[in-house]
Amino acid sequence: MSGRLEGKVAVITGVGGGIGYQAASLFAQEGAKLVCADVNDQAGKAAVAKVVAAGGEAVYVHCDVSKEFDVKAMVATAEEKFGKLNIMFNNAGIMHPKDDNAETTEESVWDMTMNINLKGVWFGCKHAIPAMRRAGGGSIINTASFVAVMGAATPQLAYTASKGGVLAMSRELAIVHARENIRVNAICPGPLHTPLLMDFLNTEEKKERRLVHLPMGRFGEAIEIAQGALFLASDDASYVTGTDFMVDGGLRAAYVTPV
Ligand code: NAD
Repeated sequence: MSGRLEGKVAVITGVGGGIGYQAASLFAQEGAKLVCADVNDQAGKAAVAKVVAAGGEAVYVHCDVSKEFDVKAMVATAEEKFGKLNIMFNNAGIMHPKDDNAETTEESVWDMTMNINLKGVWFGCKHAIPAMRRAGGGSIINTASFVAVMGAATPQLAYTASKGGVLAMSRELAIVHARENIRVNAICPGPLHTPLLMDFLNTEEKKERRLVHLPMGRFGEAIEIAQGALFLASDDASYVTGTDFMVDGGLRAAYVTPV
């Protein structure tokens, strides 16, 4: 199938990372024009160069999603360059290596995580909504996580709390803007085979501690999250809003798993 985003303009944050790059490639293949952003210019520009080399129409902008000025400029680029905004994929996020439990997590780690993972998503929505209103509607996809709906004995407390905030905020935005033809959904990836998690799970023991809980016995791939985001972005999801869209290999549904 192709052309599912023909005529649409999308903004994707965190394009230099695993999910962001796969989403940019896929959205471009499906016909969208893209404004792609990252705080890491080297990784972001390299990702966009690959999308363009493959025939996609995409521009790169520097954006720290925790800075409202940057986010406003990123959305403005979509309207200036391509005339409108239809899709906002608030994907950028961090998992700080010193993010731990209630007693050990430093306040600075908590604040940084909240500023990027939660406030950054709010800024993305805040500036996308008026642009989508001008475009006659749109689709916002906010990246949460399976840890927003499941507890883990291997804590990353600030990350978990930030993703829970993304879920609650997305649900409310979906309801507030439902009659403006603006859909808002949260996507909840399971644990993935991307640098974000693999850098965190840097020993076989740490990986095994998680894999035993996964019904499919493997981590997910970034492209599998991009496929979910594509569905939510496209008109195929025209009656889908306010969901916690799990793309987790069955993790949330599992009690015991196959041996
Ligand atoms: P990644 O680390 O590969 O990519 C994240 C990208 O976001 C990087 O390019 C990074 O430079 C960028 N970024 C970080 N801070 C930023 C900021 N302030 N402004 C703009 N860009 C910034 O991570 P990924 O695995 O592709 O994850 C993408 C999203 O999916 C994140 O929100 C993450 O929390 C979420 N997620 C990932 C997993 C997983 O297992 N990988 C699981 C659940 C949810």
